[in-house]
Amino acid sequence: MARRQLLKAINRAAILNAIKAHGAIARTDIAAYTGLSPATVSSLTAELIRDGLVHETRAGASRGGRRPILLALNAEGAYVVGIKLAEEDATLALTDLHAHVVARHTVRLVERDPLSTSRQLGQGVDALLASVGVTRGRLLGVGVGLAGVIDSQAGLCRVSPHNGWREVPFSKLLEDELGCIVYLDNNVNTLTLVEQLYGAGQHVSNFLVVTVGHGIGLGIVANGQLYRGAGGGAGEFGHTVIDPHGYVCGCGNRGCLETFVADRWLVHRARERGLDVPGPEALTALAREGNPAAVEVFAQAGEVLGQAVANLVNLFNPARIIISGEGVRAGDLLFGPMRAAMQRHMFAQLAEDVEVCIEPLTDDTWARGAASLVLERIFSVPPLN
Ligand SMILES: [Zn+2]
Repeated sequence: MARRQLLKAINRAAILNAIKAHGAIARTDIAAYTGLSPATVSSLTAELIRDGLVHETRAGASRGGRRPILLALNAEGAYVVGIKLAEEDATLALTDLHAHVVARHTVRLVERDPLSTSRQLGQGVDALLASVGVTRGRLLGVGVGLAGVIDSQAGLCRVSPHNGWREVPFSKLLEDELGCIVYLDNNVNTLTLVEQLYGAGQHVSNFLVVTVGHGIGLGIVANGQLYRGAGGGAGEFGHTVIDPHGYVCGCGNRGCLETFVADRWLVHRARERGLDVPGPEALTALAREGNPAAVEVFAQAGEVLGQAVANLVNLFNPARIIISGEGVRAGDLLFGPMRAAMQRHMFAQLAEDVEVCIEPLTDDTWARGAASLVLERIFSVPPLN
């Protein structure tokens, strides 16, 4: 990117963030807040209005006489689609610029090869837009989150365990289908991003997101940046080894953290104790009723999780650990023993720095996370390359 273009992108992002931070703000105040000249503010805000991202309003307080013209985000001037791509279906959400979900759609994936998937998702996006009468032209982009090792810069799915994809340039496939920009990332990273932009990770420079449920995931924010690793594979927390002689995990190794804490392993361990439970929800209900064997399954899982999370605290010294995912349903059955084990294993000084937040997961969270892949780029300066 040429120097002048980069400067313009930085100034544009600064103005957009000033407007977002204030809700509604006058041009003169934007100039004061950003340190940009009135002429620069005037020309760039004109561009933002033309792009539909910002609009004029007179909603501000009067300073005697006429109320000043303020600029605010035109939340419904442009839209973003977030897609959580899972094994058998995809959850699509249409959000405005504030990441509020305005419509949802689920696509049942009949065929799972990359090309068929992109075609089915394309139809799903059209159905989603049609349901609220939004045209493709008002779509700023699409974000897709899926499990696996994802090179988000290249839009490449290197490995995805659920659908067996390897080295699939999925961003490009879906861009060809939709005719708009598509960003791809690991689904735990998308969840981390939504916490950073809109949730418990706002204004926190060093925090971790641990997801529990179908698998065990980790999102890492260090010095305000999402840490993806050399090839996009950072955060395979669920496959850190707890017991090398343990059960064979889905990844092929033995005794991974997932074999102690992930949903299907909780059910497996419950059945070993003679409990006839169809799934994790039923197991949770049984433990809530006080069934000692069911309570013990969660207690053991919580203890192992607490040891593993204490290791994270000692490695990263985070200010906050946000725990999310479907497994949050277990509440204190899991997190009571987890907190106790953490206390035993964390370095005392680091324990003082960290706060654990358990975040209930809603149906929208994953899809909002995927939408954040696009929203993040609207409000941030494009990377130098
Ligand atoms: Zn494993």
